[in-house]
Amino acid sequence: AAKNGGRNRFETYRDGMLEDEANKRLLEQDLSEALDADQLELWYQPLYSLPGRTLTGFEALLRWRHPQRGIVSPAEFIPIAESSGMITSIGAWVIDAACRQAALWPDHVYMSINVSAIQLRSAALVSQLAQTLTKHCVSPKRIEIEITETAMVENSAQIALTLTSLRALGVRIAMDDFGTGYSSLAHLRAFKVDRIKIDRSFIAASTSDPGAAAIIRAVVSMARELNIDTTAEGIEQESQLQNLLELGCGTAQGYLLGRPLVCDEADAIARTQMQLRLRLAPN
Ligand code: C2E
Ligand code: MG
Ligand code: MG
Ligand code: MG
Repeated sequence: AAKNGGRNRFETYRDGMLEDEANKRLLEQDLSEALDADQLELWYQPLYSLPGRTLTGFEALLRWRHPQRGIVSPAEFIPIAESSGMITSIGAWVIDAACRQAALWPDHVYMSINVSAIQLRSAALVSQLAQTLTKHCVSPKRIEIEITETAMVENSAQIALTLTSLRALGVRIAMDDFGTGYSSLAHLRAFKVDRIKIDRSFIAASTSDPGAAAIIRAVVSMARELNIDTTAEGIEQESQLQNLLELGCGTAQGYLLGRPLVCDEADAIARTQMQLRLRLAPN
C-alpha cells in the first residue's frame, strides 16, 4: 500500500513510517505471547576449526515461528524484545534451551550463546546461567557467551562485573561482529575476551579488497599475541575460506560450511562428524 503511484515521495515515506510503527506494535503484541505459545526455537550453526575443518561447536541462533508470518528473523524481533523488556525472559529461555541441547552433544562440542547488552546489565545473568548449567549437567567450559561491541561501548561497571563473573564461572566470552561497532582496542584491554569473531563484511570483501584482507591479517595476529582465538563469520565461498586459511584464522563459520540447522539436523552432524553414538534420552 505504501508504494502507490498516485502519491508523492513525502506521503509514501510518512505512510511507510506509520506502517513500520504499526507493524512493530503488532509484532510486540504477538511476541509477548510467543514464549508461552512455544513459538520460539533455536537453530544451530556449525563452527569448524581450521585448517582441518573439524567440528568444534555450534552457535545457537534464535528463530520465531510466527503462526501467520512464518519464520521471523532475530534481526527483526530482538530489537523489539530489547525495547519492550521481553529480552530478559526470552534470553533466559535461550540459555535454558541451549544448555539442554548442549547436554545431548559430546563433551568437546561447545555451545555459543548470544546475549544482549541488556542481559549483561543485570547481575542475575551469572547466577541464572550457573543454575542452568547445573540443572542440565553441562560444564561451563563448553559454553561461550557472544556479546557485541556495542555492549562494551557502554563501559558500565555492571557490564564489566558481569563479564568478569562469567569468566570466573568458567565460560568463555566472544566478541561478536568485531569491526562493525565502535571498535576500540581499549575494550580488548578493559574486558578480557577469549574469542574475536571477525564480522562477515570483512570476509565478504577479503578476496577482492586487499584492505579488508590486511585488516583480517592484523586482527588475527593481534589476537594471537593477546592469546585470543579468532572466528571468521559468514564464509560463503571456497576462495574466502582459502584466504582465511592463509591469514591464519582459527575457526570458520558460514553458509559454505553449514547453515543454521534445526536441532535434529545439528544432532546428526554432531553425531556423524564426531563419530560418536549419541543416545538421546526420551525427554
Ligand atoms: P550473529 O550473532 O552475528 O549471528 C550470525 C548471523 O549471520 C546469523 O543470522 C547467521 O544465520 C548469519 N550467517 C551465518 N553464516 C552466514 C553466511 O555465510 N552468510 C550470511 N549472509 N549470513 C550468515 P541470524 O540467525 O539471522 O541472526 C542475526 C542476529 O540476531 C545475530 O547475529 C545475533 O546478533 C542476533 N541473535 C540471534 N539469536 C540471538 C539470541 O538468542 N539472543 C540475542 N540476544 N541475539 C540473537
Ligand atoms: Mg553471534
Ligand atoms: Mg556475529
Ligand atoms: Mg552479526
